[in-house]
Amino acid sequence: MNSLRFKAIHEAISRTPLISEAPSNRVSDFFGKNVFGRSQVQRYVPESAFKALNDAIEKGTTIDRKTADEVASGMKTWALENGVTHYTHWFQPLTGSSAEKHDVFMDITPDGRPIEKFSGSQLAQQEPDASSFPSGGIRNTFEARGYTAWDPSSPAFIFGKTLCIPTIYLSYTGEALDYKTPLLKTLHALDKAATAVCQYFDKNVKKVHATLGWEQEYFLVDSALYNARPDLIYSGRTLMGATPPKGQQLEDHYFGSIPERVNEYMRDFETEAYKLGIPLKTRHNEVAPHQYEVAPIFEEVNIAVDHNMLLMDLMDKVARRHNLNVLFHEKPFAGINGSGKHNNWSMSTDTGINLLSPGKTAETNLMFLTFFVNVIKAVHEHSDLLRAAIASAGNDHRLGANEAPPAIISVFIGSQLTHTLDEFEKKFKPGKLNPNEKKALKLDLGRIPEVLLDNTDRNRTSPFAFTGNKFEFRAVGSSANCSQAMITLNTIVTHQLTQFKKDVDKLTGKSANTEEAIVQVLHEYIVSSKNIRFEGNNYSKEWVKEAEKRGLSNIQSTPAALEKLTTPKAHQLFETYHIFNKRELEARHEIQAELFTKKIQIESRIIADMALTHVIPSAIKYQNALIDNVKGIKEIFGLRQNNLAGVGINDNKLSEELNDCGNSENLVDAQLSMIRQISERVGLIRTNVEMMIEERKKINQLEDSIAKARYYGEKVKPYFDEIRYHSDKLEILIDDSLWPFPKYRELLFVK
Ligand code: ADP
Ligand code: MG
Repeated sequence: MNSLRFKAIHEAISRTPLISEAPSNRVSDFFGKNVFGRSQVQRYVPESAFKALNDAIEKGTTIDRKTADEVASGMKTWALENGVTHYTHWFQPLTGSSAEKHDVFMDITPDGRPIEKFSGSQLAQQEPDASSFPSGGIRNTFEARGYTAWDPSSPAFIFGKTLCIPTIYLSYTGEALDYKTPLLKTLHALDKAATAVCQYFDKNVKKVHATLGWEQEYFLVDSALYNARPDLIYSGRTLMGATPPKGQQLEDHYFGSIPERVNEYMRDFETEAYKLGIPLKTRHNEVAPHQYEVAPIFEEVNIAVDHNMLLMDLMDKVARRHNLNVLFHEKPFAGINGSGKHNNWSMSTDTGINLLSPGKTAETNLMFLTFFVNVIKAVHEHSDLLRAAIASAGNDHRLGANEAPPAIISVFIGSQLTHTLDEFEKKFKPGKLNPNEKKALKLDLGRIPEVLLDNTDRNRTSPFAFTGNKFEFRAVGSSANCSQAMITLNTIVTHQLTQFKKDVDKLTGKSANTEEAIVQVLHEYIVSSKNIRFEGNNYSKEWVKEAEKRGLSNIQSTPAALEKLTTPKAHQLFETYHIFNKRELEARHEIQAELFTKKIQIESRIIADMALTHVIPSAIKYQNALIDNVKGIKEIFGLRQNNLAGVGINDNKLSEELNDCGNSENLVDAQLSMIRQISERVGLIRTNVEMMIEERKKINQLEDSIAKARYYGEKVKPYFDEIRYHSDKLEILIDDSLWPFPKYRELLFVK
């Protein structure tokens, strides 16, 4: 009897839900309570500093020493009033999670008295000894220091008893070592490019900000069961496990009623999230058993990213209280859906217009169409970079699998807008518009309905879909930092809008007025980007063939996708808008490749360990039991036969009975076949593990981290499937009480 597994099952099924202590008052009463937001700043910081801070946030002006000191002092007072003892710079290194190093507010005065201290310089800058964060060779170890610098555009917040200050993270020589630095740069660049284009339509627009509403999918597993699975603990996914008798085929989980224990967990983390100003809006069951989703009201991208990072951390911590573990991995279980993080993205003006929302009039719709077409064109030109932006070891299992967006990037826009673009293409041939064409243009643009019907009946299979008033980038991995996708999307759209303005300005004045020039350029873009549009089923085999014919790329693995980051085209693009210099891009490529290698390496070690020290011994134990059984049968029946023969009894009834079941060869046939099967599978598992380890040893000799990642993907990873295949067969063959790990049916259905 495998006691660990059964103890875990027993623990898991006998849980009672922990009733969350969600406040009974209205959410709006405590929303943002733990955030040093606008109203708190106004209360705790002098008027002049409040204004200077606002200018820094709105206009990007620098904050002087005095202002920093005053803000720090206000922050400290507010934090201490709320029972806070420590502060930390909170940043997002390229490891994928957030990082913090806590310092106590207390300081000792020269005469030895303890005081609570927090100065402007402590707020503005820190130098964490961060030699163990990935830097891709940027930060030499002899120069291990990096520094963090305050991001005033994202408000400080209290987490536990700590004041957290969102910061960027740079190397000593000024290169970005995090996600936030380049993200902020792209937001600034996009603002400039989009505002310039808005000026064609509306002179009042002075600023454009990008918006993001993420939808976060996740799985929950009971902690006891989780802790009995080394693969979940160390890699966040199951590396083996036979398919349960029931998966998601009944489709009874999606939008079904949420189990009570899960509901209490959700209420609990939502309450914490509201206090942190995270505007969570929606919760529901997802398609797979024990899979769920949470989504907020969208926000400005930088804030939305911080909130997503914070929420993932929060969900992880709160889950422990409920004896649950939350899995953000893209593919925790084989055979059922994986998890993604849909990034709903748009652009908004300071005049309150959503640039991707069709308006009421032909004029506003030309503006809408301009941004809409430019985004499509941007994706068409740089789909390989978008693919690179979502590449990770975890997401490789999901992209292209039967239920997730494929690795082929295409854009879905719905039938109404397809019709609009087709008409546009047909009617407005390049050149000066005649009066009839002008009339038709007005009419057609005026006809775009404000609320698009496709909104309700949209294509769930597209990796990049227009959903009424925003684009939804669905191929982002559930564990990813959204920044990666947002940095790329912002940059390619910035570039496209910049190009658009150049193209329009080139035409204006010569043969056309501005409107005609816009129409002409849009026409050209609609035609030249047509290939990226696809309205059909992205999961189908036909699409793979069709996409190939269209010349669209279908990059299956992370190492191959990452190579797109360092092409001359990518260098030029990111350098033009000062997002990444060459060194930073190469560093990122290297860091991502190393991360991929490490993940595969760890998984490879775990699967080997599980197979050799758990699965094989359990299988042999069962095999021994079978062998004993066979021996026993032979002994008993063999003996009886001998005895009968020995005493010369010729009893008909007795020989019949012996023929039926007493013939030891017949009786043990089934067992012998199982014994043989076990031997074969055990042998195959062992050989595959050995070969995998040999491959690892060879590849580990390589110096080049990019090549290493590629070989780990090509040479090591395929063994996982082999080993798993035989292990899963053993799982359904051997005595359940001997199986060492919680099975899928327990992980997925104990709620
Ligand atoms: P679903 O796609 O599941 O039907 P919704 O369309 O209501 O759900 O919204 C999904 C996400 O898109 C939400 O987080 C929502 O806040 C976000 N969203 C809605 N409008 C915008 C926008 N203009 N910019 C960015 N995100 C948006
Ligand atoms: Mg959605």
